Amino acid sequence: MQASTYPLVDAAEAAALVLDRTPVLPAEEVHLAGCPGRVLAGDLVAPVELPPFAASAVDGYAIRSADGGGRLRVAGESAAGRPFTGELPAGAAARILTGGVLPAGADTVVMVEDVEQGTDWVVVPEGFEAGRNFHRPGDDLRRGELVLRGGQPLGAAELGLAASVGLPALRVHRRPRVALMSTGDELVEVGTAPGPGQIVDSNRWALLAALREAGAEVSLLGVAPDRPEPLRELVVEALRDHDALVTSGGVSVGTHDLVKPLLESLGEVHLGRVRLRPGKPFTFATLPGGRLAFGLPGFPVSSLVTFEVFVRPALRKMQGFASVQRPTLRVRLGYEARAGADRTEYQRVTLVREDGELVAHTTGSQSSSRLMSLAGAHALVRVPPGDTGLAAGSQVDAMVLSLPD
Ligand code: AMP
Ligand code: MG
Repeated sequence: MQASTYPLVDAAEAAALVLDRTPVLPAEEVHLAGCPGRVLAGDLVAPVELPPFAASAVDGYAIRSADGGGRLRVAGESAAGRPFTGELPAGAAARILTGGVLPAGADTVVMVEDVEQGTDWVVVPEGFEAGRNFHRPGDDLRRGELVLRGGQPLGAAELGLAASVGLPALRVHRRPRVALMSTGDELVEVGTAPGPGQIVDSNRWALLAALREAGAEVSLLGVAPDRPEPLRELVVEALRDHDALVTSGGVSVGTHDLVKPLLESLGEVHLGRVRLRPGKPFTFATLPGGRLAFGLPGFPVSSLVTFEVFVRPALRKMQGFASVQRPTLRVRLGYEARAGADRTEYQRVTLVREDGELVAHTTGSQSSSRLMSLAGAHALVRVPPGDTGLAAGSQVDAMVLSLPD
């Protein structure tokens, strides 16, 4: 198929199509050290109870409440990790420290602040409350209780829980391994002075950050020239051990736009043009072995906006996230948004708190080459196609990238 003959697909439809074709990656057993940010692959049931023993919540004295208040002999100590041995005799107390095991026979801890202490005796006040100041086994978690559901993203509390019930490794979804490649004869490495007509390859670094944030493991493949054979060789090699290929450039209509025909020869191209601004030439293909290829447009803003709309949700689905989209907030538009004729336009905005509500302000010229429109932007505002646009003051949906302070 000629690149220009790809049907123009509605942006929302295209996004749904990409997600539909995206597989969830299989689970693997990973040590806790590698689990932050991963997604649990199955339900986790508590193999033990927590706390595992009756543990003092304070520093004080463990007593038998039946002994009542008054002077008691101190029979020993129970510190964290060094329990009192044997049973607490009647008429005796044991010094106990926070986290210490409640000695057998004791049923109450009296706080150190509430007693009078001698060298080997203690006076417990009348009217202490029996059964207080210690955690009972299973208070925090019962054996067999559902600890975490499959699909749960693993953060601080979740990893702490897994460790506390004694699990050194968890079954989590694999992170997508993504090969990232820039295309274009005009591109030079950052740090190299561009010659006439040359520009620095900035997409590689922008997309590296975007991919990492989305949870991918990234291989940087550098720049492929605008020649079919070297491009094919690089891509075929990359696809050996990656789940997805992300390219930038080489997808718009022109003699040097080589990505679509290459992907056609390797797999099935499902999208070649979308009704989206910026990002009309966005290209999506599936390849043998359940692998995906995303051909992003070359202009820096186009590549990042199409990444947000199409690639990030797909990468999150691969990792097992239930929520694959950025959060959406209703915000007030602080400027008049002109529509992008026949295309949905994602306009870059900052959000400012004004009188208790969030107001979206434009980041200036929305040219697809102007990265300044995206640097520091808090959100993308979706402006539907048509000739009406959106009036200043109207309520709109904003895809939130970050919130203002
Ligand atoms: P293309 O989609 O290949 O026609 O690229 C469109 C325009 O995007 C090019 O003329 C460059 O100005 C720009 N561009 C392409 N690739 C990159 C890149 N890796 N880094 C920065 N700009 C790029
Ligand atoms: Mg190019």
